[in-house]
Amino acid sequence: MRGLMMEYQLTVPSILRRAETLFGKKEIVSCLPDKTIHRYTYSDFAKRSKKLAVALYELGIREGDRVATLSWNHYQHLEVYFAVPSIGAVVHPLNIRFSPDDLSYIINEAEDKILIVDQVLLPLFEKFKSLVSVSKVIVIPQTQELIPKEYLNYEIVVASGDESLFQPFEGDEYAAAFMCYTSGTTGKPKGILYSHRSILLHAMSSLLGCCDIGITERDVVLPVVPMFHASAWGFPFNCTLVGATQVFPGPHLDAGSLLHLFQTEKVTLTGGVPTVMLSILNKLDSDPHKYKLFLRIIMVGGSAVPRFLVKSFDERYGIKVLHTWGMTEISPLGSSSITTSKLANASKEEQYDHAMKQGMPVPLVEIRGRNEFGFIPWDGVTMGELEVRGPWVASSYYRDTEPSTKFTPDGWLRTGDIVVITEDGFIEIKDRSKDVIKSGGEWISSVALENALMGHPSVLEAAVIAVPNEKWMERPFAYVVPKEGKTISFDDLKEFLADKFAKFWIPEGYAIIEAIPKTSVGKFQKSALREKYNKEHVSV
Ligand code: ADP
Repeated sequence: MRGLMMEYQLTVPSILRRAETLFGKKEIVSCLPDKTIHRYTYSDFAKRSKKLAVALYELGIREGDRVATLSWNHYQHLEVYFAVPSIGAVVHPLNIRFSPDDLSYIINEAEDKILIVDQVLLPLFEKFKSLVSVSKVIVIPQTQELIPKEYLNYEIVVASGDESLFQPFEGDEYAAAFMCYTSGTTGKPKGILYSHRSILLHAMSSLLGCCDIGITERDVVLPVVPMFHASAWGFPFNCTLVGATQVFPGPHLDAGSLLHLFQTEKVTLTGGVPTVMLSILNKLDSDPHKYKLFLRIIMVGGSAVPRFLVKSFDERYGIKVLHTWGMTEISPLGSSSITTSKLANASKEEQYDHAMKQGMPVPLVEIRGRNEFGFIPWDGVTMGELEVRGPWVASSYYRDTEPSTKFTPDGWLRTGDIVVITEDGFIEIKDRSKDVIKSGGEWISSVALENALMGHPSVLEAAVIAVPNEKWMERPFAYVVPKEGKTISFDDLKEFLADKFAKFWIPEGYAIIEAIPKTSVGKFQKSALREKYNKEHVSV
């Protein structure tokens, strides 16, 4: 017997409809490239998104077509996010930090029909323009300079759309709505296709109070995470669904500009990778009374959060750092390090320890871990590779020609993350499978060593890699960036680690470096460090 509920399709235009109907007067704020502030309402946003949708249809975009963006975080990008899926097409934000070669490869593989590009990013587009064959280029005007004649002006395109002709997509909720390439930290970028349904369910999940994120209409949300990185972790969708005020920083991602926006717009929730939040902490610490902040949560994910970041924000500024884990393949939210009732009477230090874990899977995401002996017990000790499944987890890659090793025969995604799982179902990532250090048959977690090193008062950043060793196969080697004006001795570092780890975990080799190389989304790029090491033959 079938249930008798309506067959209501979960689609992106339903988010737009809700925002327009209920939150018309709420604001969307953007810091533009020239640093002026643009404000308008959800009502203006919905109207313009619908006009854009109609105009794109008139330019030949049909269901399933891909429309790429090369844009910072701002209101026009948000309009594209909603206009394109609203006509059943697929919005495809490009990572502006990719090389021109990668960008042209991705655009050609995705077969993007139209490219919408920020005027300030035209110089980047010019670098690969001759290598791609998009049918039209639409430029978002941002400077006094004239837009070259061969391109369309975004504002003129929007103005040309007749809102009364808007017909929202009401087809199959499983249809593709959003395309995103992985940032390629450990290999060539691969395309992931989010569906209308997966976007809706992911948005609902991240709004749940039980994930400790719980965004509401009262929140003012500033996504530092770029809209080209896993749909800015879903913020544009979940914020629009609940009518939260949205604040976009545009290209101004330095700590000073962000802190200024946090203060002037009374931002209550922000999210980004740990490296960005570290720079914000350092800026705050340099003049702790300069800014008045209203933040209740800083959501951090993308790589492991250093313990001192959680502790410092809490102790010095009363702000909770919420540790989350995810992947582009998982839309991206997989787990969050929630505070359970078990921690009700825990000391602050215990709570900081707990925050190091990547957390409990969010509702509808299922987890298991596996090593060479089978599924790992949930004992918080046994390590294995994390496997996941759920309604917003990719089932395959776009145009994946080789048989993929990323999926198990029974359809779970192999994350490549080496974890332990506690008896309460909390995930703790020990490493990426490519980064874990295998020393004399034992696994050493580079993440744990990095975290500890970054807790040293003179260390700004630290990354630990595996280097070859005749006797032990591999040994840990640490690259360390001192804080400004500080010097570091290796003996001091060794001593600092000595009481925290088993002896064989302690790196014997260290090198001082000016900055840890970062990936296009701000993670430590260990492949670059491995190359550096190999080139320089630093002996351990
Ligand atoms: P890329 O795979 O190119 O880095 P993603 O942003 O999709 O792009 O990265 C997903 C990976 O990032 C995860 O598999 C995991 O290794 C890492 N990651 C994400 N969040 C965390 C976290 N909180 N702690 C440790 N690692 C994380």
